Amino acid sequence: MKGLCILGATGSIGVSTLDVAARHPHLYKVVALTANGNIDGLFEQCLAHHPQYAVVVNEGLAEKFSRKISSSPVSDIKVLSGASALETVATLDEVDSVMAAIVGAAGLLPSLAAAKAGKTVLLANKEALVMSGDIFMDAINHSGAHLLPIDSEHNAIFQCMPAHYKTGTDGKQVRRILLTASGGPFREMPIDQMAHVTPEQAVAHPNWDMGKKISVDSATMMNKGLEMIEACLLFNMKPEQIQVVIHPQSVIHSMVDYVDGTVLAQMGNPDMRIPIAHAMAWPERFDSGAKPLNIFDVRRMDFEEPNLQRFPCLRLAYNAINAGGTMPTVLNAANEIAVEAFLDRRIKFTDIPVIIERTMAAIAVTAADSLEIILEHDQKARTVAKEIITELIH
Ligand code: NAD
Ligand code: MG
Repeated sequence: MKGLCILGATGSIGVSTLDVAARHPHLYKVVALTANGNIDGLFEQCLAHHPQYAVVVNEGLAEKFSRKISSSPVSDIKVLSGASALETVATLDEVDSVMAAIVGAAGLLPSLAAAKAGKTVLLANKEALVMSGDIFMDAINHSGAHLLPIDSEHNAIFQCMPAHYKTGTDGKQVRRILLTASGGPFREMPIDQMAHVTPEQAVAHPNWDMGKKISVDSATMMNKGLEMIEACLLFNMKPEQIQVVIHPQSVIHSMVDYVDGTVLAQMGNPDMRIPIAHAMAWPERFDSGAKPLNIFDVRRMDFEEPNLQRFPCLRLAYNAINAGGTMPTVLNAANEIAVEAFLDRRIKFTDIPVIIERTMAAIAVTAADSLEIILEHDQKARTVAKEIITELIH
């Protein structure tokens, strides 16, 4: 029986993780659930899964949540609040596996704490890895923790890697990775119309049902840029060994190309419960609840090269990883600020890459050799990006 902590339980990945865990009550016990501000969602999850701990990060809402829990049938749940409580629950002795499913930089410290504590880290929170890079991978190596990718592409690559492969090491005889992308909702829109797209259009992903931030990232293809950086770190590869492939049907979730000419692909319906169940059962397999793939419904699969003029964010991600050091942190922070401003209707969709590029140009790159430097660059990039947004809209 393994103890499970879900960071970001109320989000899209968190909900799917609980769905999978509930199918295997003899293998997984839910120990801790966390949410930022959705206390109603968290309360329902507490009633259904009865964890030992529940964390509400927003301290203003924690008191109300605590009162609800104490007059409920699950009044023995310990309620904690504040960002530091995320680290507390991610490192509990009763916890074996931590699902890192908070969106954005807010997930870095608890995910890193889990890695340092030697927990099995099921990593959905790609921003945490992109911003902390080698520091995160070193923490995994030093503690001997297992790091299992949840992002569907990286989970697919992991499944196609040689037997007994461990993330962060060289894939023996692997030539390159083919990282697939759906191309998002604007793959075929005339480029001059992209300035006018609305947040509603941008979050309506053709194949996947996800949180708002990653949906916008998929529309700009910054998601693929972050995933390219994520793949370099997880699989110890150079950026030029990662080929992004637009595959609109989202049936193949990525491929590994070996020196002998063999290409292994992982396929399945676009349902995040598949990679989640793979990582939770690893090295075994169990039911995920996902519909089996009907190959006859697929009928055809298309593959195209990405157009960097249409998707400048992908180009910026390559620039960031090639610059190295703190630049991926700056890229990620500027993107988080720009996406938030777009969702708030303060900037145009096409302003997103402009803001990121200007932020990257304004901040000198330094070696990312401590957490302090990374957090400092993250903050600096947020301040600069906000200033650029103010200039743009006046
Ligand atoms: P979401 O917006 O649906 O959920 C985010 C979760 O994080 C919520 O539980 C929320 O309460 C919590 N959260 C938000 N801000 C927080 C803060 N400041 N402090 C603490 N908790 C906070 O997001 P999602 O779609 O589930 O994505 C989660 C992560 O997984 C992201 O990093 C995303 O890139 C990655 N991911 C998601 C999918 C998907 O299909 N949704 C696929 C691959 C990777
Ligand atoms: Mg993905």
